[in-house]
Amino acid sequence: MKIELVKSNDPRLKKVCEEVVDFENKQFYLDLINQIKNLCIEQYAFAAAAPQFGINKRFIVLVSAVEKKVSNIEELQQFKDHYETTVYFNPRITLMRGLTYYYEACMSTGEVIGKVARPYYIEFDYQDIDGNDHHSSAEGFEARCFCHEIDHLDGIEFLDKASDITYHADLNKRIEIRNKFPQKTISEDCEFDQGEIYPEFRTKVYIKR
Ligand SMILES: [Zn+2]
Repeated sequence: MKIELVKSNDPRLKKVCEEVVDFENKQFYLDLINQIKNLCIEQYAFAAAAPQFGINKRFIVLVSAVEKKVSNIEELQQFKDHYETTVYFNPRITLMRGLTYYYEACMSTGEVIGKVARPYYIEFDYQDIDGNDHHSSAEGFEARCFCHEIDHLDGIEFLDKASDITYHADLNKRIEIRNKFPQKTISEDCEFDQGEIYPEFRTKVYIKR
């Protein structure tokens, strides 16, 4: 199956995705993951989620979940050799704390960038490609990437919760904005309050398995 990027406003990006249960189809997933990884690298994306390719399944691919402090596209290109891919099936956040801000973008929304609050630290359950259960944690920029992608699995896009949005922001403009406003950590351990966000757009938190 050849993947194709689904753009914002497509109803497939608004759906709650289904749990992955067919771990016996490993080759099918490996092929998808490889294509998703290549597209992320091509588009300088940090990560992606299955519904962005019209795949109604709960898995996310983190390709380069580190903040890249660069001042132009040439500098950004130098990171391409250092990408490391991790995949999470059926990820469920079980704990969020702290507060950070960053100007997010998304392959599906294209040339749009906006400020989003995310937790500094998260804990989560997930399954690997063989269906084995794991519990792990992430902090800082990686936690942000994780939250952005897991939101996609629940039909939530970053624009549903962003402020200070700039449209028609090409890659140069996005680099400029992020250069001026790198990820800012307000607190590493405060309660992550989603009270300001519409209930349907809040990142879901589950009880640990
Ligand atoms: Zn996205």
